[in-house]
Amino acid sequence: MNKATRTNYCKEHFIKYFEYRIEDTLLKYVGERNLKGKIIAVATSGGKDSTSLLQVLSKLSKKYEFDVIALAVDEGIKGYRDVKLDFLKRIVARLEVTLYIESFAEWFGRTLDEMVMISLKKGFEIKPCTLCGVFRRYILNVKAREIGANYLATGHNLDDEGQVFLMNILRGSIKNLLRESGVLSRRMHEKLVPRLKPLYFLSEKETTVYSVLMQILPPPAECPYVVFASRNFIRKWLNVAEMENPGIKMKLLEVKEELCEKLVSKTRLEIMVPKLCNVCGEPSAEHMCKACQLRTYLGLKYNPMRNGGGRQ
Ligand code: SF4
Repeated sequence: MNKATRTNYCKEHFIKYFEYRIEDTLLKYVGERNLKGKIIAVATSGGKDSTSLLQVLSKLSKKYEFDVIALAVDEGIKGYRDVKLDFLKRIVARLEVTLYIESFAEWFGRTLDEMVMISLKKGFEIKPCTLCGVFRRYILNVKAREIGANYLATGHNLDDEGQVFLMNILRGSIKNLLRESGVLSRRMHEKLVPRLKPLYFLSEKETTVYSVLMQILPPPAECPYVVFASRNFIRKWLNVAEMENPGIKMKLLEVKEELCEKLVSKTRLEIMVPKLCNVCGEPSAEHMCKACQLRTYLGLKYNPMRNGGGRQ
C-alpha cells in the first residue's frame, strides 16, 4: 500500500503503475518527438534504481523508437563494485543492451580503494564519496558524449532528490541548490550531455518493490565507504519523517521545484553556464574542474587520452 496516496496495488497493477510513471515523466519532460531516433545512455551501477530504470527504458525504447545504452563505472571498490557489475552484465545480456564499462584505474591511474589510502595518508580531508562522485560524474559525461548520447539518464529517485535538497539547505549552499536540475537539465554547454532523471517522482521504496516483483533485485553487497556518506543522517531522518507523515518526501520535492522556479533569473542561468577547465578542457564551475583539483590533490597523473583530451 502507498500510504501517501492511500492506494493498494496488486502485483500486476503495481508494475503497470511504476512503468507508467516513468513513461509519463519522459513524455512530459522530454516529449515523444524528442525521443524518436535519440540515444539515451543510462548510468548503471548494478544497483536496484539504475537496473529498474534500464529495464523500463529498454521496454519503452521499442515503443518510442530510441536507443538505450548502459554506461557503468568501475571505481575499483573490492568486494562491492565487482559483485554489482557481474549482476549488471547478466541483466544487459538479457535485455540485449550494449554495456560500456569504464574504470577509475584506466582514467585516473588508481582505483578508488587506492585513492582512499592516499587520502588517508594526507589526513583524510577528502572523503571517499566525494572522490567517487566527482570522478564518476566526469567519466559518465565524457563517455556519454563520446558515444553520441543525447541524454544521460540516472537512477536518482524522489528520496535522493529530497536528501540533496536538504543537504544543500543545511550547508547553506544556494549555488548548489540552483545548479541541481529537475527531471531534465538544460544543455548549458555543448560538452555537457543533458541529465535525465526518469525516476524523479518515484520513491526508493517503490523502486525496491518493482525490482523484487521483476526479479531484478541485485545481490546485497554494500559499499564499505557508505559509513562516511554525509547523507546518511538525512536519509534516516527523512525515512522516519515519511513514516510519521506519509507524503512528506513528495511535498519536499514540490517545495524544491517551486523554490527553483521562483529563483530562476539571470543570476541562476549565469551560475549554471559552465566555463572550461584550464587543465582538461571539460565543463567546470570554476577555472579548474573538481576532477582535476582532486587529481592534483591526490598526486595522480593527468592522462590527456582519457581526461577530456585537454583544453581545446
Ligand atoms: Fe561511491 Fe560513496 Fe556510493 Fe561507495 S557509498 S559507491 S564511495 S558514492
